[in-house]
Parts: sequence; C-alpha cells; structure tokens
Amino acid sequence: MSNDILNDLAYRKPITLRVYFKNIYDAIRTTLKGMSITIKYVYGVKPVTLEYPEVREELPANSRSRLFNDVENCISCMQCSAACPVDCIYISAVRREKEAPALKTKNGQAIRLDLTQYTIDTALCCYCGLCTTVCPTECLTHTQDYEFSQYTLDNMKYDYLDPQVRTWRNRLIKN
Ligand code: SF4
Ligand code: SF4
Repeated sequence: MSNDILNDLAYRKPITLRVYFKNIYDAIRTTLKGMSITIKYVYGVKPVTLEYPEVREELPANSRSRLFNDVENCISCMQCSAACPVDCIYISAVRREKEAPALKTKNGQAIRLDLTQYTIDTALCCYCGLCTTVCPTECLTHTQDYEFSQYTLDNMKYDYLDPQVRTWRNRLIKN
C-alpha cells in the first residue's frame, strides 16, 4: 500500500452507528426524490413540451407576431410606413375619382385614396409594433400567427391586397 493511502486510513475517523444509518437514510431519500421528479416528467404529470404540430402553443392576445392590414379600413395615410424604423412597408395609392361613391372606414373616417399597393416585407420587420400604434383607423394589427416561414426571402413579402392574405386571416381569427 502506498504511503498516501496509509496516511489517509490513519486519519479517518471511525464511523458511528448513527452516522452509518444516517448515510443510508440520506442515500434512499435523495434517490427517491430524484426518481419522483423523473417519474413526474416520464408519465406526463408535468409536461414541459407540446406535441407540435398536432398541438400548438397559443400566444398571448397582445403578442406581436405576423402583421395584418384590413385594407378595406386603410386610408393610405402612410403613417405606418413613416413610423417603421426599417422601412419595410411599401404603400402606394391614388386619389379617388370625384364621381366614385363615398367610402368610410369602420370608425367613420373618409377614404379619399384608393390603395394600390400595401406590402410588408416580414423578413425585414422587427415586430416593434410602431406601425400599429400610429395607425389612425386601427386596421393594421399584429396577429398571433407565428407559422409563416418561407423558403425564399422574396416570399416573405406579403401583399395585403392579395385575396389569399384575407383567407389566411379569416382562418386565423374568428371575429
Ligand atoms: S412592426 Fe415595426 S418593423 Fe415591423 S412593419 Fe411595423 S414598424 Fe416596421
Ligand atoms: S397607418 Fe393605418 S391607415 Fe394609415 S396607411 Fe398605414 S395601415 Fe393604412
């Protein structure tokens, strides 16, 4: 036996019966505690994950996810694009014909321009919410949709005059 081992044995205190049983008790207690946590997760008593995509996380109502513009209530004031820090909102509009029937938004504002383009490049958007804050008709809102990945950056540009976008919004929001 090496000198180190002999020295170690010489200084080791003899274990009492009380300490011996306490060590056994601690070993059993800590093992059971650890196993109870493991069993809780294994048998789903306390699940921490979702079985995505069958089960989807519902975001809070005030979450800032994919934007939606209800273009029928947009007055083309361009305040949203002016507020956008990354210039990712592209708008164009033309003056309405004098003879054209008067149009109003749902909150009673006159629509004097015809929107000809309303596109948001969501690849550039940082979801700051400034555009929705300044919108006077509240037609521009964040939705809770977080599943809109695309294979190309170009496909991240959403044209809100495209009927497909409204179909998407109707599927998502039932009001
Ligand atoms: S959320 Fe922010 S970055 Fe995105 S479009 Fe609106 S203002 Fe621009
Ligand atoms: S701020 Fe609102 S009303 Fe004005 S252009 Fe933007 S979305 Fe339309």
